[in-house]
Amino acid sequence: MRQLVEVKIKSKFVTDIKNGYPLLSKEAVETSGVAMDEGSILRLVDPSGRYIATAYYGLQNKGIGWVLTRKEQEKIDKQFFVKKISEAVARRKNLYEAEDTTAFRVFNGEGDGIGGLIIDFYSGFYMVSWYSEGIYSFREEIYQALSEVVEVRGLYEKLRFNTNGQYVEQDDYVSGEKGEFPLIILENGMKYAVDLNDGAMTGIFLDQRNVRKALRDHYSKGKTVLNTFSYTGAFSVAAVLGGATGTTSVDVAKRSLPKTIEQFSVNEIDYEAQDIKVMDVFDYFRYAARHELKYDVVVLDPPSFARTKKITFSTAKDYPKLLKDTLKITNQGGVIIASTNNASFNMKKFKGFIDKAFTESNTRYKILEEHQLPEDFTVPHNYPEFNYLKVVFIKVMN
Ligand code: SAH
Repeated sequence: MRQLVEVKIKSKFVTDIKNGYPLLSKEAVETSGVAMDEGSILRLVDPSGRYIATAYYGLQNKGIGWVLTRKEQEKIDKQFFVKKISEAVARRKNLYEAEDTTAFRVFNGEGDGIGGLIIDFYSGFYMVSWYSEGIYSFREEIYQALSEVVEVRGLYEKLRFNTNGQYVEQDDYVSGEKGEFPLIILENGMKYAVDLNDGAMTGIFLDQRNVRKALRDHYSKGKTVLNTFSYTGAFSVAAVLGGATGTTSVDVAKRSLPKTIEQFSVNEIDYEAQDIKVMDVFDYFRYAARHELKYDVVVLDPPSFARTKKITFSTAKDYPKLLKDTLKITNQGGVIIASTNNASFNMKKFKGFIDKAFTESNTRYKILEEHQLPEDFTVPHNYPEFNYLKVVFIKVMN
């Protein structure tokens, strides 16, 4: 039997939870000493014992659980999941119907009403990511609900239970048709090779869809493009398809070379005409400066934290420096596409980093476009802190 626990919330947290704040933090809980199991249903009450919301207990890197409903009578059962998933699917009607895009997010955790649960669609296949043992304890009900709402060609899952959100290595196949990988998906008419059973990542970050489109449609024609932290080279593919005269993709991971060749090849791009470097980006900056290489467009999409033999890098600390290094190898009049998915700072702070870097480099700039999460990466109303993606297109003036 699932455990039901009454949890008293400190008064200063009550209003936010009532207004739609989805995350249950440790600090918000008044009740102490009650043992809660992963997957326990929590009846949240205010200091005078009045019902506020129903949540589940699940330890993640942030928080100890998520609010599921603010209706006292609502039960957390298969029907509840059917309702949530149906609403999420209905919101993505346009993407389901789009012929030139066959991969997108179907269910975005807290933004769609169930924190800790992510569902992505890849050309008929579904990939479910579980962020705690608590949410995973609802696995059977959720899989039944999913297959009632949509047609599932094949099902894969990723377990990301560790409290730091790390992937647990396993065979990710669950049921239905086994995919033949690479599976080719379409995104705004571009092809991308994905593998749903190859470790933590699939080959493409779906949240950058609008950025790839903007790069292809408005920033690539006749330009040289440097793609740093390039992973499988998804931005490089967009640039070539947009008419770039040349691309350079730089990533320190050895697997990035075959993966990038694959992305070019499925789009019938001659990869030998493009540069792919397996190299530390910070070494590449020095290499490029020494060879007086400069680019019209530079994509900067570092991981939030990176550690190599030589350096530790954190976007929250080192982004200005990264931009200053980038400026040295960007042509005047060129564009830097600066991106970060670090949730610990917001767009305003990110723009502060940009301003700092340009001011310290005595260079004027103009912001041309800004992107945050695309429409399928739903975020809770009134709580923009869940909109972790920040991308700024910066024109380098003089
Ligand atoms: N921009 C990519 C996603 C980047 S993921 C895309 O849109 O698909 C982060 C990548 O940074 C990983 O592939 C990782 O191998 C790479 N990376 C981490 N530290 C690095 C470093 N110091 N130099 C080069 N690449 C690095």
